[in-house]
Amino acid sequence: MSLFTTTTIQCGDCETVTDFEAAGSVNADRRPDLRATILDDSFQVVACPSCGAAMRLEPLFNYLDMELGLWLAAYPARRIGEYLAVEKEVRALFDQSYGAGATASAQEVGGALRPRLAFGWPATREKLLLAQAGLNDTSVELLKLDLMRRLPDAPFQPGVELRLVDVGEDALTFIWLDNDTEEVLQEFEVDRALLQDIESNADAWADVRAAVTGGMFVDMQRLYLDGAEDAA
Ligand SMILES: [Zn+2]
Repeated sequence: MSLFTTTTIQCGDCETVTDFEAAGSVNADRRPDLRATILDDSFQVVACPSCGAAMRLEPLFNYLDMELGLWLAAYPARRIGEYLAVEKEVRALFDQSYGAGATASAQEVGGALRPRLAFGWPATREKLLLAQAGLNDTSVELLKLDLMRRLPDAPFQPGVELRLVDVGEDALTFIWLDNDTEEVLQEFEVDRALLQDIESNADAWADVRAAVTGGMFVDMQRLYLDGAEDAA
């Protein structure tokens, strides 16, 4: 079931406050239209009734997609620094719904799901895009680490993220973006063969792969964010 609760949102331009249907959980198998709106960046976006400015709520919902084998907890981008604490909360929720705390039939469903945690809309969209394209998200995170070594002029700094935004037949499109404002700083394409190179060199990447998959936040940033386990 997809669940929404009525909340309010204030326009950043004219300060008008309006009601907003905030997503608490999304079932993409029953509502594939919601999957499509996350992918086209129109999910949880409304126009201000006074001035027409686009407003978007921060993500804070669970997403179930049995067709794509994905269960995702989407959190606000600003909470990425406490990912270890959030991971604990989310792991408990997943276990209760589909793990040891759930019914046998729910556990069977859970066994076919990859549980993930993402911070911010670009990261949430990326996880869906990769699942839809049939790409392994961990391999893509390893590719990002590889690209950072290959690209000496990468605008890499705290608060800047590397996200995959398009999967083509031969090329993968990435952007560097500001995590707070979602401003795109740089866009570039890489040959899909680089991803295959990583997957066919499993031994060389085994240690890094283990580090990236240390929890539900499958993201290269866990190699350099401290995670602040005691926060929140
Ligand atoms: Zn407005």
